Amino acid sequence: MLAEMHRAVAAVEVKNLWKVYGHVEALKGVDLTVAEGSFLTIFGPNGAGKTTLMKVLATLARPTDGSALVGGHDVTREAGAVRKRVGVISHNTYLYPQLTAMENLAFYGRMYGLKRARERSTQLLEQLGLATRMHDRVATFSRGMQQRLSVARALLHEPELLLLDEPYTGLDQHASRILAGVLEGLRDGQRTVVMTTHNLQEGLESCDRVAILVRGKMVFEEAAAEVDRSGFQATYFACVERAWGR
Ligand code: ATP
Repeated sequence: MLAEMHRAVAAVEVKNLWKVYGHVEALKGVDLTVAEGSFLTIFGPNGAGKTTLMKVLATLARPTDGSALVGGHDVTREAGAVRKRVGVISHNTYLYPQLTAMENLAFYGRMYGLKRARERSTQLLEQLGLATRMHDRVATFSRGMQQRLSVARALLHEPELLLLDEPYTGLDQHASRILAGVLEGLRDGQRTVVMTTHNLQEGLESCDRVAILVRGKMVFEEAAAEVDRSGFQATYFACVERAWGR
């Protein structure tokens, strides 16, 4: 009974999650619970397993062992239900270069079965500063513009859980500010955000929980309010070096 109640409120519940690629153990028994409406930032060095964890939550990679639930739905057995609830922003924009910005959003709108896709697309394109380019092919967009459009794609179906894998990569200062504003506007107490970043300051500013993943293991998890910001860099390096046995 208690377990059922917990499941109803956790946006993400990961238990003893393993992901093995051939001889590479990308995730080694990760446990993670993310409360609904919260913002978790995951830091970690290159190859720590951050993208792998995001892919598992987005149903883009299957767990080797253990379980991962999104809104109580299992990423393997209920992948369709999970996909409806999740929006992903990563270095892969999942856009079709030969289609225009609007055609891309129309495609995703149909895929999600949205009723007012055009209206919502127009609103998002305006919000992200792409209104004047909506009828241009994505192949003609700069990297940062494609990233902005991928933000619109990820938000189109108003997902309960946003997975942001290095979302600021490739964005100029102006676009970063737009994205930060959009993310801030999404914090309505219900939408949950999990973000990975290498930028300690940016990552700490936006979140209310902080985690550090190193060599496939969660080695640190804390409420952002409890984290000493000035000393966090030292904490981060200590966690990384300990995990590497240095
Ligand atoms: P970065 O900060 O560099 O993006 P990351 O923390 O996101 O790193 P992952 O991309 O999750 O790390 O990779 C974790 C480990 O899994 C790495 O050793 C990587 O080489 C390996 N890996 C990831 N995807 C695959 C794959 N498709 N096939 C084989 N190995 C993979």
